[in-house]
Amino acid sequence: MDTKSRNLLDCGKTDLEELCVSLGQPRFRGAQLMQWLYRGADFDEMTNIPEKLRETLKESYVSGRLGIRRKLTSSDGTVKYLFGLGDGNYVESVMMKYKYGYSACISTQAGCKMGCSFCASTQAGFVRNLTSGEMLGQIITAARDSGVRVGHVVMMGIGEPLDNYENVIAFMKAAQSEEGLGISFRNMSLSTCGLADGIIRLAGEGIPVTLCISLHSPFDAQRSEMMPVNRKYPLDKLSDACNIYTLNTGRRITYEYALIDGVNDSDRHAAGLVSLLKGRSCHVNLIPVNKVAGTGYRKASDRRTEAFRQILEKGGINATVRRTLGQDIDAACGQLRREEHSKV
Ligand code: SAH
Repeated sequence: MDTKSRNLLDCGKTDLEELCVSLGQPRFRGAQLMQWLYRGADFDEMTNIPEKLRETLKESYVSGRLGIRRKLTSSDGTVKYLFGLGDGNYVESVMMKYKYGYSACISTQAGCKMGCSFCASTQAGFVRNLTSGEMLGQIITAARDSGVRVGHVVMMGIGEPLDNYENVIAFMKAAQSEEGLGISFRNMSLSTCGLADGIIRLAGEGIPVTLCISLHSPFDAQRSEMMPVNRKYPLDKLSDACNIYTLNTGRRITYEYALIDGVNDSDRHAAGLVSLLKGRSCHVNLIPVNKVAGTGYRKASDRRTEAFRQILEKGGINATVRRTLGQDIDAACGQLRREEHSKV
């Protein structure tokens, strides 16, 4: 694919209308084109659009549907995709089925700069930000391939969404719009390692998405070791930003906590978490840590996990243990991309 081709999924409805007009076509062609693009159609399928226009578009643009490089299906129905981007990079997305419908987990960057010690996404290095069209393309391609309608989006794939701020905001707005994917902001979750400035900025956007904070330790010294971002934005700064977010949006914040055997799963850690979060409108998601080669981390035992959860509950903190989907296909993000890179 020509990397210089412009991705039509990066264009809004007005851009598409103007493009059609500039090519000597009526304005309404823009809306027709948009409908096809959001269904994941390629130019040849766009039967109500004149062939001449399709040919012209094909010369300079791509439709935004991504190439499926690999696809793994779990026995629980979870499907993991490795998508190829126009410039030869790869990203991962996961389609999960819940009681309430389908949820797509998407990547926001090719690689990640954040350097968290337990995370596979950071190991293959950072290459570039994804455009909003490339984020939409992941949902549209996965939905089309799986033949489902996506009702929820989580930005928990590869990358740090708040490190790609403008494109992520543009993506969320496009995904929410009626003519786009029609997914309400409340059905979108943005997960961050804790870029406090970005959280404060997001709090002022009028986009009430569910904010998830990857916490993993209630102690600054340990968190700085596991997550370098904590050196710039330590827990008090992060807490202030979270307060602002809840105040502005009215949304309860989710804290993610990956339990690692002998590292952050002690009673002392649970008590530390209680004092950090007490009195806040929040929910804690306890995640048995996924094995990542080279880290030596192992997940906490089921007994330890339950004991940890109970300490939180007794301390008045609402906590659940995350149901793990796609265990048999290594659905945690970053693993496939890393494998793909190590082949070259
Ligand atoms: N950069 C964002 C989003 C991507 S990571 C963030 O940090 O939140 C999505 C979630 O997976 C984060 O909570 C991250 O901490 C968690 N995660 C990363 N590696 C993990 C692993 N090995 N086991 C369990 N969770 C992991």
